[in-house]
Amino acid sequence: MNEYLKRVISNIEKRDSHESEYLQAIKEVLCSIEQILDKHPEYEKAAILERMTEPERIITFRVPWVNDNGEVIVNRGYRVQFSSLIGPYKGGLRFHPSVNQSIMKFLGFEQIFKNALTGLPIGGAKGGSDFDPKGKSDNEIMRFCQSFMTELYRHIGQDVDVPAGDIGVGAREIGYLFGQYKRIRNAYEGGVLTGKAICYGGSLARKEATGYGLLFYVREMLKTNGHDLNGKIVTISGSGNVAIYACEKATAFGAKVVGMSDSNGCIYDKNGIDLPLIKQIKEVKRGRIKEYLRVHPESEYIEKTSDDSPIWGIKTDIALPCATQNELNLNSAKKLVENGVIAVGEGANMPTTQEALDYFIEKGILVAPAKAANAGGVATSAIEMSQNSMRYYYTFEEVENKLEKIMINIFNACNENAEKYGCPKNYVAGANMAAFQKLADAMLAQGIV
Ligand code: NDP
Repeated sequence: MNEYLKRVISNIEKRDSHESEYLQAIKEVLCSIEQILDKHPEYEKAAILERMTEPERIITFRVPWVNDNGEVIVNRGYRVQFSSLIGPYKGGLRFHPSVNQSIMKFLGFEQIFKNALTGLPIGGAKGGSDFDPKGKSDNEIMRFCQSFMTELYRHIGQDVDVPAGDIGVGAREIGYLFGQYKRIRNAYEGGVLTGKAICYGGSLARKEATGYGLLFYVREMLKTNGHDLNGKIVTISGSGNVAIYACEKATAFGAKVVGMSDSNGCIYDKNGIDLPLIKQIKEVKRGRIKEYLRVHPESEYIEKTSDDSPIWGIKTDIALPCATQNELNLNSAKKLVENGVIAVGEGANMPTTQEALDYFIEKGILVAPAKAANAGGVATSAIEMSQNSMRYYYTFEEVENKLEKIMINIFNACNENAEKYGCPKNYVAGANMAAFQKLADAMLAQGIV
């Protein structure tokens, strides 16, 4: 391995040894850009890697709020403003009990690369809280969001940092956050948050964008390799925003989705998933996926009992992990390959463990990497920002057409870079190299900052 690369990785391992997700994300990127570093010795002189792996700013704060029983609860809030190299900080907010600094940093780091791939002027950030929205009343969610924004507002702005949703943060939470921001600032800055409802400045097709974008990318990847989505069997983990709209688009492209999941287990419906029912259970009732059986008793529910997510035991042509990080491990990868999987499309961020990813590449399975394949969400957020600035709205078709073009361009960049650097069909490496080259050049151009 290149000496510079070795030294940087070893220093990060020493400094941030407790941040396992962050180390995993860093190594995945750095280990695939060696050829670029060999060609550009000037990157070492300018400490490009050291600067690219150190966030510009990490903010943590107290979030006190009162629950429906009158008890005071204190959560921890985060905003990691990783890079403003090519635009205002941009990245979602995650509300989930697992949130910690390592997860925030890995997501922020991935976001810089993803945003660079979109070709749009957006930097990289991530934020959130260890608050668990599950089982909370609407009023509790509102009070939490208001308290969270009462601190966050001083760090964001439509030209500074523009948060959006992620796990546990959807249109409801964005609405409460926006209301509180507007109240504190006494100004209507529509572009300060994205993922807003359509009635007060959101973009048509933003809700669908990550899932639809994933399928545009997977379609291009399959086409380039002589395959087609039509008639293929698909399994999708998760049943949240990304999973639901991935299912919708996969079905529109002629595939049959037979499995979806949540954190408790998965549904196998060999007749094809009843998506309106999933939307009713998850988007309206905020219930558990097991409730699917009440309407479709002929389908099967498999409880999650170990680290291996049961959905990956279902025979499928295409697997779309759309839930969370490291949800697809080596065991699951082996099961998928044994069952004849031809492609994996990452809708979630870093859903595949490094061992599983290496195994897929070794076995010649096509992998659509998260930072490229799920970039449709943030790309459409950038389109929402531009509509807010223009004070003019596009139709659904106009936004979807722009999204489709962006995803085709991203796939082409991954494909071209994979070929250029001698690893054809390795879109994971292709994505890392395409984004890194752009970021490194921007960093050189801006001097030592
Ligand atoms: P949602 O909160 O809408 O849905 C998350 C889904 O994943 C739920 O079904 C949830 O199940 C499941 N899940 C969450 N944590 C776990 C876990 N630890 N184990 C198993 N299942 C879990 O989130 P999104 O759909 O928005 O996000 C999903 C993924 O996509 C995340 O990795 C996110 O970072 C990524 N992403 C999202 C974008 C977006 O636009 N929303 C853009 C780009 C990436 P349960 O209901 O049981 O918790």
